[in-house]
Amino acid sequence: MPNYKYYINRVIILFALAMLLSTIGLASRNLASLSLFWPGNAILLGLLIRFPSLDKRSSLVVLYLGMLSADILYGTAPVIAAGLDAANILFIATARWVLLSNHFTRGNPRRLQALLHVFPASLLGAAVCALAGALVSERYFADELLKAWFSWFSEQMSTSILLLPLVISLPRRDELVQLAGALRDSTVLPLVALLVTTVTGTWVGGAGSLLFPLPALLWCAISYPLFITCLLTMITGISEIILVAGNVLNIQGKDDLFRIDSLSSARLGVAAMLISPLIVALSTTSNKKLVARITQRADYDLLTGALTRSGLSSRLEMLITPRKRPQGFFGAVFVIDIDRFKNINDTYGHASGDYVLAKTVECIRQGLQASALVCRMGGEEFLVLIEGISQPRAFLLANRLRHSIEGNSIILNGHNLSVTVSIGISSLNINNVNSLDESIKQADKQLYIAKSSGRNQVRPEFVL
Ligand code: GH3
Ligand code: MG
Ligand code: MG
Repeated sequence: MPNYKYYINRVIILFALAMLLSTIGLASRNLASLSLFWPGNAILLGLLIRFPSLDKRSSLVVLYLGMLSADILYGTAPVIAAGLDAANILFIATARWVLLSNHFTRGNPRRLQALLHVFPASLLGAAVCALAGALVSERYFADELLKAWFSWFSEQMSTSILLLPLVISLPRRDELVQLAGALRDSTVLPLVALLVTTVTGTWVGGAGSLLFPLPALLWCAISYPLFITCLLTMITGISEIILVAGNVLNIQGKDDLFRIDSLSSARLGVAAMLISPLIVALSTTSNKKLVARITQRADYDLLTGALTRSGLSSRLEMLITPRKRPQGFFGAVFVIDIDRFKNINDTYGHASGDYVLAKTVECIRQGLQASALVCRMGGEEFLVLIEGISQPRAFLLANRLRHSIEGNSIILNGHNLSVTVSIGISSLNINNVNSLDESIKQADKQLYIAKSSGRNQVRPEFVL
């Protein structure tokens, strides 16, 4: 049975991974105390998120048994191993719950959702794991509870922030081509800056030196694909920790240990820190401007400047919120269609037809209050929505509009030209965007009557 086989495969993979990663952690254990580096929890959690097929409730049990086996094989007393590995599983379960919770950010794909929650997930996961771990440490290693909690917490928190984003963002096979393409198009300068600042920080030493690579990391973050940024962040973080632990990067001591005095180092570090939010803010601002430009393109018709249908929908969605308009949106709808427009195209050419369209919309706009919504429904047909207008006044306004369009002379290749329009009117009462369709249908009917009764006239839905 393929299902059964698949289940066995999943169990074997998870069990082996848990054993392997625990062994790596155990190997970093110094004799007196617990492990210096425990990458297993973050990596295993990242894999559960990255590969949803592995992410079943029973997986936690398999992972627990894998960790336990590695611990016992390594010589840890079973009762201690049971407690320590329970703390590890608590990290995975708690952080997984936060990563995938859609309380604050809804509707994102699974991996993006998880990446957005890496920080709170690491924080809460590490806090809960540290509580269980510290209780075990206190009982079996006679560690002080608070100290043990901070030791577990800081280790889990930093390891999780280092490794979790990388594992979650591991590219799928179909994403590799995209990744390679993005890398080919990007510049090497941010990477060079990262190398230079890390080396400089190591060489200079002192209080600020750890922060030197921060602006370069942010530059990488806005230049490279997400996975590469996660990779560079992880490498930089691990390098700094190893360099400090190995005393190559000297961050504390007397001034004469450093190449520059520690105040200068701190000043440079603070400068690196302060420029960083500015880099993020500038990048966000330019992104917002870009989004606004794209939205403008999608919401407004390029030729006439009138709203597109989708632009009208989003404007109405913004306008008709229960808070802003508890009674809905009342008023009138005009459907305006240029008469015999095809003749203009046929006589003067399409480009001239375009010009006439733009000029006609200009004239419509000038005849309306600024809050009226003008939308190009397609071709030479326009929709006008006016809020708060009575039916008789709507009729008068539409007629005034018709006259001013007729009297608006458009100069085309030396010819003086004018167009006429037919207008159908309907009343409008929208509480949701869909009820607009009904009003448009009614106004369209009136437009049809106006056309068949000779054009250049206004037809209201109601009897005046
Ligand atoms: P009626 O009075 O019955 O409305 O006649 P009409 O000629 O205005 O209507 P019809 O629907 O027969 O033709 C509309 C024409 O509008 C046909 C099409 O080529 C033209 N048209 C549609 N969109 C554009 C555009 O963006 N630019 C130009 N120049 N012409 C357009
Ligand atoms: Mg027409
Ligand atoms: Mg038409």
